[in-house]
Amino acid sequence: MEKPRILILGGTTEARELARCLAEDVRYDTAISLAGRTADPRPQPVKTRIGGFGGADGLAHFLRDENIALLVDATHPFAARISHNAAEAVQRTGTRLLALRRPEWQPEPGDRWTPVESVTEAVHALGDVPRRVFLAIGRQEAFHFEAAPQHSYIIRSVDPVTPPLDLPDQEAILATGPFAQADEATLLETRRIDVIVAKNSGGSATYGKIAAARRLGIEVIMVERRKPADVSTVGSCDEALDRIAHWLAPA
Ligand code: NAP
Repeated sequence: MEKPRILILGGTTEARELARCLAEDVRYDTAISLAGRTADPRPQPVKTRIGGFGGADGLAHFLRDENIALLVDATHPFAARISHNAAEAVQRTGTRLLALRRPEWQPEPGDRWTPVESVTEAVHALGDVPRRVFLAIGRQEAFHFEAAPQHSYIIRSVDPVTPPLDLPDQEAILATGPFAQADEATLLETRRIDVIVAKNSGGSATYGKIAAARRLGIEVIMVERRKPADVSTVGSCDEALDRIAHWLAPA
């Protein structure tokens, strides 16, 4: 009998970890899909396809053509479009859908968070007075800060921001997480950062800057998540593996 086929929508540490666990599980035939945003993506432990599907329609066709039994949406919590497409595509095909989402970070005593609903709101929250900003939201939405050229920016991303930002005072740092709290504290201190703009991504890989900001008393403008689509959701790889076994390989 053919093994049930699983497709993981990836681009995150969790997706890769889940792929690693499923690669070792002979009950399933697992593949992962990446958007192709990163110039030099890390190798994946299972068959990998790269590039968009062509919207919800394209994804629905792919699920049918490839006879996918389970779609796991393990994309980044801020990758809203692909998650929306996944929810729509499975409605058309009847494929099971499981979302793997890291829990959000919660503020702790000592945190100085200014919550905002979008990156554009974060730009306004910086205010008019020039500040030294650590921009840690990835490269795709960094262009919004061209509307606030009075600030100095340290911009960290995996790949360079393209096209280059039209900002008079900026420094680019190219780096891939995880980032240790001590290193983040050094960066914040040496660059004399007085405000961080971050997305509430959750997980440990990028939490170092949040913990370092708390210790140093630095404000964090925190872009909060939008409410996700109403799909069956787990918060860790172990939970995902349990759910997958329950759905696809009942005892
Ligand atoms: P998005 O806005 O939700 O998606 C834009 C389009 O990219 C989608 O409509 C889809 O194209 C394609 N796409 C996205 N993820 C895909 C995947 N795993 N496999 C195949 N196609 C995919 O996503 P985004 O914010 O640009 O993020 C792109 C990728 O980077 C995601 O996979 C995400 O997990 C990862 N990532 C995002 C962030 C972030 O802050 N947004 C941070 C870290 C990693 P079609 O409509 O043509 O299918």
